[in-house]
Amino acid sequence: MIVLSVASQKGGVGKTTVALNLSFALAVRGWRTLLIDVDPQGAVGLSLNTRVSEAPGLIDVALGRSALSDVIIPTHVAGLSLMPVGTMSYREQALFERALQEQRALEQLLARCREGSPGWDLVILDTPAGFTVPMVSSLWASSHVITPLQAEPVALRALPRFLERVRELRGMGAGLKLAGIVLTMAPPAGLADPAGVETAWNQYPEAIRLEPPIPRNPVFLEASGAGVPVGLLRRDPPPVARAFDRLAAHLEPRLGLNAQPAVDDGPLPFVD
Ligand code: ADP
Ligand code: MG
Repeated sequence: MIVLSVASQKGGVGKTTVALNLSFALAVRGWRTLLIDVDPQGAVGLSLNTRVSEAPGLIDVALGRSALSDVIIPTHVAGLSLMPVGTMSYREQALFERALQEQRALEQLLARCREGSPGWDLVILDTPAGFTVPMVSSLWASSHVITPLQAEPVALRALPRFLERVRELRGMGAGLKLAGIVLTMAPPAGLADPAGVETAWNQYPEAIRLEPPIPRNPVFLEASGAGVPVGLLRRDPPPVARAFDRLAAHLEPRLGLNAQPAVDDGPLPFVD
C-alpha cells in the first residue's frame, strides 16, 4: 500500500486541491484510493460539504472513540473513499497531536488499513502547512511525498527549505521518497513571466518535476463551491480535469503503481 503525503511548508499553495483532484484521478484510473484529511482545520471536508466536514474522522479513531470503519466515507466514484479529520476543540487538538506523537496513531491506523480486505492500493494524506505535528507525523507514516509549488516567488524561495527538511527526516530514518514537485496555479503558457517562475522551475532536475503544471483556473473555486472534484463539475469536465489525469499517469510509475489494476465489474449496461 502506497502512502502519499501532499505537503508543503507554505499554506494556500494548492495542497488540498491537488490531494482531492489527484485522489479522484487515480481512483478513476482504477486504483483503490483512500483520501485522509490530516489537517485539523478540515481542509478536505471544507472543500466538499457539511456531511464530510462535520462527520467523525481521524481524530475520533486516534482518540479511540470511533472504529476505523465508521469514519471511512465511500463516494459515488468507484474505488474512492474519504476519511475526514473530524471536528475538534482546541483542547482536543492537543490530545490529537499527542496521540499522533506518542502513540503514533496515524501509523497504527494505516497498519490497519493495510490489513483490511480488500484493502487500498493507495492512501493520500492531505496535510496542514508548516512542520506541525500532523504534518511531520504524516511524512513519517508515508512512503512518498509530493509538494505543490505555487507559481510565485515566495513559494519558490520556500521550496529548498522544504526539500532540505525532507532530506533531514530521511536522514533520521523516515522511509519516505520525494515523488516530485507539482507546479500549481501556473499562469497560461505564453504569458510574460515577470516573477521568473518558469526559469526557476526549469532549474529543478527533470526527475523531480511532475508534469503537467496545474493551471490557475477559476473552475477550482467553482468546484469547491459545488463540493466536488473538478472532474465531477459537469458531464463534460473542464480541460483542467484532464491535467489531473495526466498528472496521475505521470505519478504512477514513480509511486510503483505499475500494472494497470484489474477492474472487473462485469459488463457495463448497454441496452435496457
Ligand atoms: P492549501 O491546501 O495548500 O492551503 P488549497 O488547495 O486550499 O491550498 O488552495 C488555496 C486556494 O487556492 C483555494 O481557494 C483553492 O480553491 C485555490 N486554488 C487552488 N489551486 C488553484 C488553481 N490551480 N487555480 C485557481 N485556484 C486554485
Ligand atoms: Mg489544505
